[in-house]
Amino acid sequence: MKTSKPVIAALLLLIAGASAQEKSRTPHDGSFLPPAAIAAMQGIRKENIEVHVRFLSHDLLEGRGTGARGGDIAAQYIATQFALYGLKPAGDNGTYLQKVPLVGITPDADTRFTLVPSAGSPMELKALDDYVVYDQTQQPASDIDAPIVYVGYGIEAPEYNWDDYKGVDVKGKVLLMLVNQPTNDPNLFHGKALTYYGRWTYKYEEAARKGAIGAILIHQTDMAAYGWQVVRNSNSGEKDYLPLDGTPKLKAASWIQLDVARKLATASGLDLDKMMADAQSRDFKPVPLPARLSAHITSKVRPLESNNVIAMLPGSGALKDEGVMYTAHYDHLGIRPDMPGDNIYNGALDNASGCGILLELARVFAESRQKPRRSVFFASVTAEEQNLLGSQYLSKHPPIPASKISLDLNYDDVRPQGSPEEIEVTGAERTTFYPFVEAAARDFRFKIRPDAHPEAGHYYRSDHFSFARAGIPAFSINEGIKFKGHDEAWGLAQDEDYVKHHYHQPSDEYQPGWDWTSDAAMARFGFALGWQAANQPHLISWKTGDEFDRARP
Ligand SMILES: [Zn+2]
Repeated sequence: MKTSKPVIAALLLLIAGASAQEKSRTPHDGSFLPPAAIAAMQGIRKENIEVHVRFLSHDLLEGRGTGARGGDIAAQYIATQFALYGLKPAGDNGTYLQKVPLVGITPDADTRFTLVPSAGSPMELKALDDYVVYDQTQQPASDIDAPIVYVGYGIEAPEYNWDDYKGVDVKGKVLLMLVNQPTNDPNLFHGKALTYYGRWTYKYEEAARKGAIGAILIHQTDMAAYGWQVVRNSNSGEKDYLPLDGTPKLKAASWIQLDVARKLATASGLDLDKMMADAQSRDFKPVPLPARLSAHITSKVRPLESNNVIAMLPGSGALKDEGVMYTAHYDHLGIRPDMPGDNIYNGALDNASGCGILLELARVFAESRQKPRRSVFFASVTAEEQNLLGSQYLSKHPPIPASKISLDLNYDDVRPQGSPEEIEVTGAERTTFYPFVEAAARDFRFKIRPDAHPEAGHYYRSDHFSFARAGIPAFSINEGIKFKGHDEAWGLAQDEDYVKHHYHQPSDEYQPGWDWTSDAAMARFGFALGWQAANQPHLISWKTGDEFDRARP
């Protein structure tokens, strides 16, 4: 059911109430909450968030690698805190831990990857320089000798009236495709904003669903919003996958450099620039190339295991079978023993900071004199850095049916930078909850900052996205750019410095003296949203026509 009349009426009352209050007196944070909830929320202490971060990002935790000792210690620490708060276990068999089975795949050096045009000589590509490949079928060895079909962007999106496949049978073929989504026409898709159809994960999934045995993405730095270096770094060494579950997989999930694609096109008597231009049209049809992919892919395959950590605060009323979920991933990149110097990826900000917030939220919810009507779940998930696997597993094995989860609020990488004047809640505007979010932001005196880089598709890159895919309304809460006592330029400079010098690097380390006011502020704001979602009469849904609306159970 979509927003009903009583909900709208209640909403208008809430908004009207908030603005009337603004006129008569200074609003105070969370003034729309009942007194017991305000008291609980005000109990959030930045010092507590800081000590969690200090421990979780300690060298002793060795970068909290998925399936590694440090990651397991982090999970035990978080479970212990949940127990100390008196929250109920919501993992496997009455414990806080939910086992997440994983399979680690490492491409072997004797892999061969050769493009073979019908006319001209075979092009044997050089691993990492020319191409990267993973065998998603999780076999120690796979062989491919199959014709290549160019499928443009490789997108079939009925809600945008777009279909690159046009019903062409691609079973057993290898699909060559562009990254991102058509961008010529701002009326297509969401204009410049990347939709899930533009993400490489979607393209592999769609190709496999259509029976293809391989997919080759053509890397373009401008279109992908990141360089080949990033593709190369995130596609070398071991990568984790969920175990095979019957969904179709590709023997070759690969990327090639733009120059390689150009050579292949030329050798096939085609012009890559024209091929790319043709793909911008709704009338595009797949183009079989006079060329094959001949590949022998060998991999090291090993099972490993990690855990999500889940606690529950039971709801207090008739809606207690429904729930609201908070999430924050605890895993990070681990340790690289072969790297000289500091080789521990401490992940203080990514994402011990989110875990600190999650734990502090769990504590104050547990201590609140009044409990929300719906149950509240606190889930610290694993393997986020492995393509959101922990949250993906949780979204498929939730503690209560997905149809009863009203909302997921996620925290990832909340930097201690002082007193925030803005929030970012990208994705919230797609849900029926948004008017509440706007009203709450006004009450907290936060400006809502729109996603500064919608073309980069950040919405698809943290754990809330796993829930969105499963149809559960979900978004992350973070601070924006503007902080008290600083101008925007300062905020942007902090951002840039972080991305350049610390993000996914061993220098993402705890530093004494950081101002955790911002993290406490994001926790309080999230508390207020979660409380609202846990108490309002109806479950939250996606707005009609949203790309995730169809998946809502
Ligand atoms: Zn993260």
